[in-house]
Amino acid sequence: MTRIYPQFVVAKFGGTSVADFDAMNRSASIVLADPNVRLVVLSASAGVTNLLVELSEGLESPQQLDKLETLRTIQYNIISRLRQPSVISAEIDNLLDNIGQLAHTAMTSPSTAISDELVSHGELISSLLFAEVLRERQVESSWFDARSVMRTDSNYGCAEPDVNALAELAELHLRPRIEQAVMVTQGFIGRDSAGHTTTLGRGGSDYTASLLGEALHAARVDIWTDVAGIYTTDPRITPTAKRIDNISFSEASDMAAYGAKVLHPATLMPAMRKNIPVFVGSSKDTAAGGTLVCCTTENPPRYRAVAVRRKQTLLRLQGLDSEPTHRFLAQIFAILAQHSVAVDLITTSENSIALALDSTHATSGDDGALTSALFTALSSHCRVEAETGLALITLVGNQLTHAAGVCQDVFARLEEHAVRMICHGASNNTLCFLLPGDVADGAVKALHHRLFE
Ligand code: ASP
Ligand code: MG
Repeated sequence: MTRIYPQFVVAKFGGTSVADFDAMNRSASIVLADPNVRLVVLSASAGVTNLLVELSEGLESPQQLDKLETLRTIQYNIISRLRQPSVISAEIDNLLDNIGQLAHTAMTSPSTAISDELVSHGELISSLLFAEVLRERQVESSWFDARSVMRTDSNYGCAEPDVNALAELAELHLRPRIEQAVMVTQGFIGRDSAGHTTTLGRGGSDYTASLLGEALHAARVDIWTDVAGIYTTDPRITPTAKRIDNISFSEASDMAAYGAKVLHPATLMPAMRKNIPVFVGSSKDTAAGGTLVCCTTENPPRYRAVAVRRKQTLLRLQGLDSEPTHRFLAQIFAILAQHSVAVDLITTSENSIALALDSTHATSGDDGALTSALFTALSSHCRVEAETGLALITLVGNQLTHAAGVCQDVFARLEEHAVRMICHGASNNTLCFLLPGDVADGAVKALHHRLFE
């Protein structure tokens, strides 16, 4: 079949880009401006997923009614600005009723499957509304249920997509349709083999966009958000952060993995596999430009960016004297594996191990990653000391282990801080260290000043 849009683009709009009618209209203008945009992937309107997550936690009726009312208001503020609200309002009402029923079920017989079903409604609604906004602007567009192609496992709340099934299903059901209309679909949601709705983890819409881009061999994936690209550090920490115009996949994925908030950490993997450039820009200010993430960049700089990941816990494990070191290391890693703890930062000395645990996604306070089960299991092999509330600061760059003076560059500016742990050498592109959380912003500013200003 000859393709009318061989250079087709997937455009993803995040929660703030579909927060209300005006935001949706700006995002619609972006779609209109580029005829190659044939597939639109949406987040739920800003705030909606949080409300749905709260509803899925089994709230009592009075609180439920409050949240449901807030949800209805967010969506109706959009519907009421449409020229013909009646085209869509019955369908949205149905979905809002579903939410009410699912919230009731979540209270009486909670399950992770019910939570995912409930939470998926944010994207279902925003995509219906956005398809209507596009139609009112004369764009030939059509709503598409992402679950009919996004096959996942049944790990509710953080499901893993089946990339091969997705490629097959997308070729079959989605490819023919993007030739005919702009398809509007949902990020974040999928379906397991039992037919239940799943979700890919918070912030997962970026991931959906690049997975669909990979499945359909898109020429580019555009991620429209509320910042005009990727910066040398979080601009909220220091206004002197500079936008990076071009960055490599590996640099950007290190940044995402080590806490830079612009992209969901898994997003770049599908794009990397198929070498699809990813553009990141602001839907509020398209003239401001953005960042293009590609396979390679010309003259990669020694220092690219500074990322911060908060809510880190440092574990110091001191082996019992009776245990030989090699056995001790093996035991500790076996326990960590049993407890599915991913450790990305570790140092060892004679008879002790220090490792950082990431509690970013834990809901129960700072040391959420150190569960009591893990603590008990570790304690039978070693003395366990835990320090919570730390921040992991990562310098992302190129050839860091082969350049002289890197440590001087980094630590000369941090002389007044007590650095808890340093990791350098395992990766040629990152140098990480832990500091107390309350001094992290100051340290990032100082480091950024020294390396980028
Ligand atoms: N709506 C989901 C969330 O807030 C997914 C996303 O926006 O990417 O996490
Ligand atoms: Mg996001």
